Parts: sequence; structure tokens; C-alpha cells
Amino acid sequence: MSAVENLDFPDYELRISRRARHLRIKVSPLGEVVVVIPAGMDPAMLPALLVKKRAWLQSVLQRLTERQRSAPASHSLCPDRIELVAIDETWQVEYTSQSKHKPTISIPDRRLILNVALSSRSNADHLRAWLQQRARQVLPAWLQRTSEEVGLPFTKVQIRGQKTRWGSCSSQGTISLNRNLLLLPASTVRYLFIHELCHTQHMNHSADFWQLVAEVMPDYQQHENRLRNATRRLPLWAYA
Ligand SMILES: [Zn+2]
Repeated sequence: MSAVENLDFPDYELRISRRARHLRIKVSPLGEVVVVIPAGMDPAMLPALLVKKRAWLQSVLQRLTERQRSAPASHSLCPDRIELVAIDETWQVEYTSQSKHKPTISIPDRRLILNVALSSRSNADHLRAWLQQRARQVLPAWLQRTSEEVGLPFTKVQIRGQKTRWGSCSSQGTISLNRNLLLLPASTVRYLFIHELCHTQHMNHSADFWQLVAEVMPDYQQHENRLRNATRRLPLWAYA
């Protein structure tokens, strides 16, 4: 038995990185642990370093497990339904062995039929691809309407699956929107639109920028707060 096994350390994947300067531990939303070490580090140092991180890592994994246990079925990697809160649509998700590799989408009764034989990860990939498509159908026209209403034009819009941002605006006036916006309340999405549209005038978060946001949307602060907390409440399938 190696020294590392003796540590009672959770299972992990070891990666050697040329860019890393210190040991780093990454934990995915599903609890998968990756230990990254710098290329020059002597692996014999690993047990001593890991033992220092053990308590921290166990508490992170514990929190993840508790969160998954208390989450509703719609928030799991294999949800039973999907609530597109922004556009007031609920989709039922079914798992059968009759389904094709890709999900069958039944639009009239809002059903998504997934293949039960596929891994939950690959079904979640399909759900994200479907959400991307639905976001493309809905968000650009909605942004356009908001833009005309508040008189702040933009050049182009794209829908993406950013991990850490809800939206962004380039200096060319291209607005990128996160497909997961469909999972948030409509008023929060509207705020994000206004925020990005104001960036077409001010490419920063200066006082002038916030003043413009406040002019267009006086109660913006509560939406800004909601948006900041929203990532934590996303269903697992949407980001894991
Ligand atoms: Zn901003």
C-alpha cells in the first residue's frame, strides 16, 4: 500500500501541469476530484501535501452530498422536469429504452424523451444542447425587443454556455447571453439584458455605467443581487 492510500484520501485523478505553480485541488459539481501538480514537483511530496488538504476536501464533498440529497428531483443530473421559468414553460422529462440516442422532443405536450440506457452525463449533455436550441429561439428576439424599448442598440447576439457569466458585451457591441438565463425569472433576465445593453455605452462598471443602468431600471439592485446568487440554484444537469 502506498503512502497516499494510507491517508484515507478520497479517490482522485492526478494531472501534471506545466503551467501550475502550486498543487491545486479541483472538485467538480459531481464530486469528482482532480489533483493538479506542477511538472517539476517531486511526487514523493504528494502525501504530505494532501494530508494538509484532507479536512478541507472532506468538508467540500460533504457539502456537495448534502446539497444533492436536499435538491428536488428536477435539479438532479436526470431531472423529471425542466422549468423554463423565464418563459413560463414546464417540460416533462421521460426515460425509456425505446428512445433514440438523441432525445425525442414532443413539442405539443412539452415532453423530452431520453434514452434510459445512456449515462446520466450524456443525457445531461443532450438536455444542455436542447436548452441551447430553445435559448436561440427565444432570447435574441427578446433582447431585440428590450433594446428597442430602452433605446440602446446592439450589433449582434450570441447564445453560449458560459460557466461563470450570465452575459457579456464586446467593444464591437456583440452581446453574449448564457442559455441558462431561461431557468431564471423573467425580471432577472430583463435586468441582465439591460445591464449588457448599457455596456454598449460604457465598457466598464464605472459610476457612469451604474447611473445609466439606474436610469433605465431604477430597482436594478435587487435583480443584480438575485443574479449573483442564481448560479448556486441552477439544476445539476445545466452545468455539471
Ligand atoms: Zn457588466
